[in-house]
Amino acid sequence: MKAEIIAIGTELLLGEIADTNTSFLANQLAGLGIDLYFASTVGDNRQRLTGVLRTAWQRSELILTTGGLGPTQGDITRETIAAFLGEEMRLDPELKRDLVSFFKQRGLEMPLNNLKQAMLIPSSAALRNPRGTAPGWWVEKDGRTIVVMPGPPGEMQLMWQNEVSPRLKEKVGGIILSRLVKTFGLSESKVDEMLAPLIASANPTLASYARPDGIYLRITAKADQPEAAQEMVARYEAEIRATLGEAIWGTDSDTLEGVVGQLLAARGLSLAAAESFTGGSLTQLLANAPQSQAFFKGGFTATADEAKIACGLDPAVTAGPKREVAAAMASLARRKLSTQVGISVEAAPARDGLIEIFVAIDSEPAQRNRVQSYSGRVYFMRNRAASYALFDLMKWLKLAGNG
Ligand code: ATP
Ligand code: MG
Repeated sequence: MKAEIIAIGTELLLGEIADTNTSFLANQLAGLGIDLYFASTVGDNRQRLTGVLRTAWQRSELILTTGGLGPTQGDITRETIAAFLGEEMRLDPELKRDLVSFFKQRGLEMPLNNLKQAMLIPSSAALRNPRGTAPGWWVEKDGRTIVVMPGPPGEMQLMWQNEVSPRLKEKVGGIILSRLVKTFGLSESKVDEMLAPLIASANPTLASYARPDGIYLRITAKADQPEAAQEMVARYEAEIRATLGEAIWGTDSDTLEGVVGQLLAARGLSLAAAESFTGGSLTQLLANAPQSQAFFKGGFTATADEAKIACGLDPAVTAGPKREVAAAMASLARRKLSTQVGISVEAAPARDGLIEIFVAIDSEPAQRNRVQSYSGRVYFMRNRAASYALFDLMKWLKLAGNG
C-alpha cells in the first residue's frame, strides 16, 4: 500500500511550529510495513489543499492528514475534503451529543462554532478523540482511504493508537514484525556499507537512523504467519550481530543506562559518577535508569583542580594531560561515594573544532581510560559524551564479566 501524509496548517509554513506529526506518522507507517512515498505541508487554504489532495489521490492509496479540524473559520480541512469528494456534510446526532457532553463535563456552554466538528460525509466514519473536541474521519472511497486527524500531537497520537493503527493493521493483512537493533561507535555510512546486502532487500526491510546514543537499525518483516515473520527478523538480527559485533548494545526499548545498570546489578557492583564537561547529564541518565537505586549511588560535578587535590596531585605542578584528570575524577567519585566502580567524563578542545572526550573508569585494581575526538555543537557533544561514557562502561563490564 502506497501512503502519503499531508500536514495542514499555515503555522507550519511560517516556521512557528515544527511538524512533528509527520515524523511520528512516518515512523508508525514504517512499523506497519506501509510504504510512505510522499509527505507535504500545506497552509489552511482551500484551493491549495484541494490541489495537494488531487495529487495525492492520483498517486496514493492511503492519505493521512493532520490539522485544521478546529472549530474556527480558519480550520477548513473537513469542508475542503467534502468538496473535493463532491459530498455534503451532515450534522451527526451522535457526535453532536458527545460534543455537548464534552463541554458540559467541563462546566462550559458549547459555542455554536463547535457544531461543525460533529459533521460527517456519507463516505466517512468518525474516529474518536477522547482528548479533544474534534473527531477524526475515516473515509473510504473509490479504493482510496483518507484518514483525517487533528493537529495537536497528543490528540493525534492517541487517535492513531486507538483508532487508526488497528484499522490499518487489518487492512494490510498478514503479520508485520519489527525489531530495533541499537549500535554505538560506528558512523551511519559505515553501518550502511557493512550491511549493504541487507539494506537492499525488500522483505525484510532494513532502515538505519542516527540518534544521540548511536545508529539504530530497524528490521521489518512481512509474512502471512507470525512464525515466518519471527524467523525472518531473527535471521536478519543474527546477520547484523555477526557483522557489527560489539558495536551492538541493545534492542527495542533498551537504553544504554538501563543495560549498564543491569550489568552492574548482576555483578553486585555499585557506581558513582564525576563529571565536568557533561555538567550532570551522565548523572541524570543514570539516576533515571530502571532500578537506579540498586546500583547508582550518585554523581557530582567536579573541577579538575578539586579532582587533583583529592587524589593527592598538586594542581599547580601537575598541569598534566586531561587523561590523568579524568582518572583522578573517576577515583574521587568511587572513594567519595564508597562504590566499587567510579566513572568520569572530561573534555578538552583539540584541533579544528574537534573536542577530545576523556572517559575514565576506576575500580580496584583495574582502571580504564580512553579518548575520543568529536565535533559538533556543544549541546550535542555533551549528550554524546555521556553516551560514550555509558558505552565504555558497558564494554568494560562485559569484559570484567568474562573473567
Ligand atoms: P484545534 O482544534 O486545536 O484547532 P486542529 O485539528 O484544528 O486543532 P490545528 O489548528 O491545525 O489543528 O493545529 C492546532 C495545534 O496543533 C497547532 O497550533 C500546533 O500546536 C499543533 N500542530 C498542528 N499540526 C502539527 C504538526 N504537523 N506537528 C506538530 N504539531 C502540530
Ligand atoms: Mg485549529
